Order: sequence, then structure tokens, then C-alpha cells
Amino acid sequence: MTKPSEPTKTIEALAINFQTLAEDAPVMLWLTNNKGENIFSNNIYKLFIGRENVEKLGGKAWFNALHPDDQQNCLDVFEDAFATHKSFEMEYRLKRRDGEYRIILDRGEPYIDSNGKFSGFIGSSTDITEGKSSEDELKKSHTELTQYNQEMSLINQLNSYLQVCRTLPETYPVIQHYAEQIFPNWLGSLYLFNENKTLVESMTSWGARPTKSSDIITADDCWALRQGKEHIGFDEEKRLRCEHVDADIDSYTCVPIIAQGEMLGMLHMEYSGKLSFETDEEKHRFFHSRQRLMKTTTDNLALSLVSLKLREALKLQSIRDPLTSLFNRRYMEESLEMEISRCSRTTQGLGVIMSDIDHFKKFNDTYGHDAGDVVLVEFSKLMLECFRDTDIICRYGGEEFIVIMPAVDQELVMQRAQMMCDRLPKLEIIYNGKALPPITSSFGVAYLNDKFNHANQLVKFADSALYRAKDLGRNQVVLYDNP
Ligand code: GH3
Ligand code: MG
Ligand code: MG
Repeated sequence: MTKPSEPTKTIEALAINFQTLAEDAPVMLWLTNNKGENIFSNNIYKLFIGRENVEKLGGKAWFNALHPDDQQNCLDVFEDAFATHKSFEMEYRLKRRDGEYRIILDRGEPYIDSNGKFSGFIGSSTDITEGKSSEDELKKSHTELTQYNQEMSLINQLNSYLQVCRTLPETYPVIQHYAEQIFPNWLGSLYLFNENKTLVESMTSWGARPTKSSDIITADDCWALRQGKEHIGFDEEKRLRCEHVDADIDSYTCVPIIAQGEMLGMLHMEYSGKLSFETDEEKHRFFHSRQRLMKTTTDNLALSLVSLKLREALKLQSIRDPLTSLFNRRYMEESLEMEISRCSRTTQGLGVIMSDIDHFKKFNDTYGHDAGDVVLVEFSKLMLECFRDTDIICRYGGEEFIVIMPAVDQELVMQRAQMMCDRLPKLEIIYNGKALPPITSSFGVAYLNDKFNHANQLVKFADSALYRAKDLGRNQVVLYDNP
């Protein structure tokens, strides 16, 4: 091995040594003098920019190959480096000889000669495009994953609240609250079918302003409801627009809410932010992920809403009599207790009317059980007409009924019972196309306003008054004499 030569004195001298060493190095290397003029580029560098460009433009070939948007920044970094004589690092886009811009990482080290004088920069340039794009991809994936996790966590929270909702209306503010967070920059509305499935109504909505979709629509107005699958209105030419949506909306989506084969309604969403995408691919990814999120959200909503509907129906079944739809005995007993305590606290009076249809056994025997059922239904309808909405009307069992009238005076209780008693025989009941004979009923009334210590015997008192009414010849109202 030969001894290393003496340190070179000038950058020009360095260039000669450096050149032999650097010419065929596998990285792009360059050298400038203290004025910033390129005095050397190695082979691989010339190959990158294109030999013909280097020959034509000399030291200016590099600047010429810079992306126009990056030129100023490069000049600034250079200016600073030449002023401070400090090492520098910068990234820029440089046009390769095939015309493609590549991302270059440039590193420059100041060269100080043996006299301590700054003589220029020695530098290397590395094509980091591949690494850069996979780094960008990684960053993007990471952001998407974080966002996805957040969205799923919000959907889980939404589910957990929905599970403890007892009625459908209770779910609306919950859905609104979470939809706002799951879909920032979107306006939305939850539509549900009404009870007889003729109309679809907006139950709750969210976002910075109201959506441009009508509040009440028919299933025919919406492509998603017609088809039973999502309809995407991101069509720039505005073809296939749903009838319920205003003409000036560019992008919207309707997703049907379907559970166990039953269509419950749909989720309507409009984008309210400004959309700008660098590539079609990016735009596609954005909408695809939003649609997936809407689908996940509606699937979750569907399950919760359908089970809530079922629970409501079961609850209804558990408190209603199936033939007459009046409250059943169990519900009557629960609410009587509640009403008694409420009335005793407010020192208001409470009335209980017990009614039993007269000679109903004979009626059944003569006209048949089905005709008897029709009578029970018509009797119930008449009761609903004769009493207030706040009164609790129950089928106590068989042909016996009880009405609880909270917060009333005795006179009104007697009046209503008498009204029912008087109207009943005039009630025309048709069965198999023929009018049935008139029916009558007996009524026993018990009333409390100050003797609430007897409250637990109220039904017994009414029953005993009823018994008396029967005894006195039926078709009449008897008031129980409080002890
Ligand atoms: P009274 O005037 O003393 O009340 O005579 P009644 O015949 O009405 O008295 P009873 O309690 O002996 O008869 C009640 C009848 O009500 C017996 C049964 O045939 C009838 N009934 C009970 N539940 C139903 C029902 O759900 N449908 C029909 N059609 N009839 C019922
Ligand atoms: Mg009876
Ligand atoms: Mg009877």
C-alpha cells in the first residue's frame, strides 16, 4: 500500500484527486468552488441528469433540472450555506434524463483548505423516491388506521347507548350525537317508516345545517328504499337523483336500514365540506371508506332499532289485552298503586269504576262466542269515548272492566259511569251483517278523597257496589258507601 499523499491545498487540487476516486462511485457526488459554481459531477450524476444536458448547460444543468416549485428553496438553502459555511441537507425534485421527477436528498459538507479558508462544498445526492413514497404510504395507512379505530370505537359507544334505550324516541338524540362525531363534515338524517309503512319520516338529523332532503317522503321517492340497497348520488351529471333530494346537491348517499329482512328506514347523508383530491384514486378511496362506514353504522343501527321495536311490541303485549287492546289486569294493578300514591300526596280524589256486562253468559249461549267477542270490542271502544285520555281503562277479565280515574271529584266519576251506562243500550253492534240485540252493563263506583287508608280495598269496594247494582236489577250505577 502506498502512503497517503499530503493534504491538498486548494479545492481545484482536491477536484483532481477527488475526481479519480469519485468518478465511478455508486452515489451521485459533486463539488463546488467557493462561489457556488459546480466544478465536478461524477459519472452517475451525469447519467442521471443526462450527459447531453451537462455538456450543453455545464454547471447550470442541475438548476435547470430542478422542479420549478423547488428552485427557490434550493437557492435559499445554498445562499445560507455559502454565507455560513455550514453543512446542509435538503430535499428537492430533480428531473431525471427520462423526464421523471425524482425526490433527491442532497447533503453538502464545507471544504476548508489547509490555510483554514472556506473553499466550497463537497456533496452527495441520493434518489430517495422509493423510500419516500413508501414512507408516505405508511403515514397514510397509519392515519387511516387511527381514524378507523376511532370510528369503530364511536360505533361501539353508540351501540352500548342504544342497547339501554327503552323506546325509539330515546334513541334519536343518541344517534344524532354519535353521527355528528362519526361523520364530521357530513349532514345527515335518520328516516324511519311510520307505523303503517306508508311514509318514511325524518326522526332526527345532524350537521352544520339541515339536509336538503324532504322531512316526509314515500318509499318511491328514494332509490335506496326502492332497491333495498345503498344509492350513491356522487354523479356529477346529477343523473339518478332521488325525488326527495334538492336538485342543487352534488354528493349524497342513502343507505337503507334493513334488519332480519325488514326495511326500517334509511340513513341520508350529504357532504358539507369542500372536496379536493390530488388523484382519482384518492377520491375513490375517500368515498369508498365513507360508504363502508355508513354501511357499518346502518347495520348496527338496524340491529338496535329492530330489537327495540321488538321490545316495545313485547312490552305492549305484556300490558295490553289482545282482544280489546285495553290495558290488562296486571297493568291496572300496577298503575292503581301508582295513582293512589300520587293522589294521596296531592290530596286529590280518585275514582274506580268496575263494570260487568249483564247476562253475558246467556248472550254467548244465544248468539255464539264470536258475537260475544264483537260485543266486547265495541264495548271497549265506547269506553274509550266516554272517558278521558288520563283515565286508565282496563279489561279486568272476561266481561269485566275497570276504569281508574285519577285527580277527579266524585261527581265526574258518577257522571262518566252514568254516561257509559246510558249509551251502551243504544250502541248498534253489527255481527255477520245483522244488528245484535242491545246490551246493558252494571257499574259499581268507589271513590276516595280523604280516606286513603282504605286505598288497598278500592277494587273490593267497587266490586261490592257492582254486586249491589246487579242485585238492584242490573243496568245501573251504584256508588259504594265509604265506611
Ligand atoms: P251477570 O249479569 O250476573 O253478570 O250475568 P253473566 O252471565 O254476565 O255472568 P257470568 O259471570 O256468569 O258470565 C260471564 C260470561 O262471560 C261467561 C262467559 O261465557 C263470558 N265471557 C267471558 N270472557 C269472554 C270472552 O272473552 N269472550 C266471550 N265471547 N265471552 C266471554
Ligand atoms: Mg262476570
Ligand atoms: Mg256479567
